[in-house]
Amino acid sequence: MNVAIVSTYELGRQSFAVGSAAAWLTGAGANVRCLDLAIQKLDAGTIKWADVVCFSVPMHTATRIALRMAQRVREVNPDAHLCFFGLYAAVNEPLFRSIGAGTVLGGEFEPGLVAMLNRLRDDPTAPQRDAPLSLDRLQFRVPDRHGLPGLPQYAYITTADGRRRITGYTETTRGCKHLCRHCPVVPVYGGRFFAISADVVLADIEQQVAAGAEHITFGDPDFFNGPGHARRIVEALHDRWPTLSYDVTIKVEHLVRQQELLPVLRDTGCAMITSAVESIDERVLEILDKRHTREEFELVVQSTRQLGLPLNPTFVTFTPWTTAEGYVELLETLANLDLIENVSPIQYGIRLLIPSGSRLLELPETQAVIEPFDPFALVYPWNHPDPRMDELHQSVLTIIQEDQQREAPRRETCERIWRTATRLTGTSGSRPKLREGFGYPAVPQLSEPWYC
Ligand code: SF4
Repeated sequence: MNVAIVSTYELGRQSFAVGSAAAWLTGAGANVRCLDLAIQKLDAGTIKWADVVCFSVPMHTATRIALRMAQRVREVNPDAHLCFFGLYAAVNEPLFRSIGAGTVLGGEFEPGLVAMLNRLRDDPTAPQRDAPLSLDRLQFRVPDRHGLPGLPQYAYITTADGRRRITGYTETTRGCKHLCRHCPVVPVYGGRFFAISADVVLADIEQQVAAGAEHITFGDPDFFNGPGHARRIVEALHDRWPTLSYDVTIKVEHLVRQQELLPVLRDTGCAMITSAVESIDERVLEILDKRHTREEFELVVQSTRQLGLPLNPTFVTFTPWTTAEGYVELLETLANLDLIENVSPIQYGIRLLIPSGSRLLELPETQAVIEPFDPFALVYPWNHPDPRMDELHQSVLTIIQEDQQREAPRRETCERIWRTATRLTGTSGSRPKLREGFGYPAVPQLSEPWYC
């Protein structure tokens, strides 16, 4: 059986999920070809060749593109069996079925892919009988990345010394043990996470180093969900590849509680820690159930700075509960903490997404502002109760786009946004004190700075 596995978008990374799907399907006897539409065109020859076309849907943007691309697949090869797998699959099952999906697999999807293969071999018209969501623990396999474009074609990191490093991507866990209300992992994993064995992770890194990787992004939702596991992996990584750098994502709460592990990260080549701070407004943090405070964020800024570990804080800057004063205060706080060089400008324009199954829907505060689910946008749209904030959001996005095109320094973008925010919202504030040049320590930058 011929299977095409299609990645539509994964933050500019070479997908672990697609490689894992390829390994499982090849192991089950399928002929597999991969397409990464972030880099390649939807190749009609591959689509015509395929008996089954599987779309990887690990995130919101990827899912929206996959829905569009599935229509094109239908036009090119109306007989192909359509499958959607990954984090966004099960929660959007009705939508995928409505466009003709024969198989939908969320959570730990790999055995479901093999079951699909066996089912279609027996009877190409047999419907899916297994549940669209599986949280059965599995023995992960080393992703088969041979069919994907080479690493130099993917997003890269520019380290503090100004060097571009070819960047690979892997994961040490799936899911998350936390229940933040706005997070798309929660409706699927419900507070569970699964460790990927160190042997598999290290073998995956090894093949990427052989393919040229000089830096690895660990894409776990939270690298410190299993701190012992994380420690074993980074120590082994550094032993085997002492010049290989890496970056990780760790929540504020873990950075506070696991402070003794931060020197281990520094000493094993960690170039940057991304942390989803989301807000400095205690009410917003409470609504999102982030389980950290503004004070703890500031503590993390200090502790990582003292250790020389660059912090890449991310935010959900526009929520229905963000006030005009709060937005301006965030900019001023980041400037006062000397963090402007650490924050990618796109972070000033991130707007809360409320997807299907979001825990935010439990709250009357959410019900008060949302509209019916939009199946094209894949979210419950919302308008801010203060119309100035929606106007500000549009203006901020325009500034970010303009400044990105002219490659403006981050401090200039921050200052433009601050001026616009104070003018549009009639908020007074003290102009952020923006230092020239890089903050301390100098900050690496990912060429694809999105986080969600
Ligand atoms: S936001 Fe991060 S810490 Fe919270 S549930 Fe999601 S992945 Fe876990």
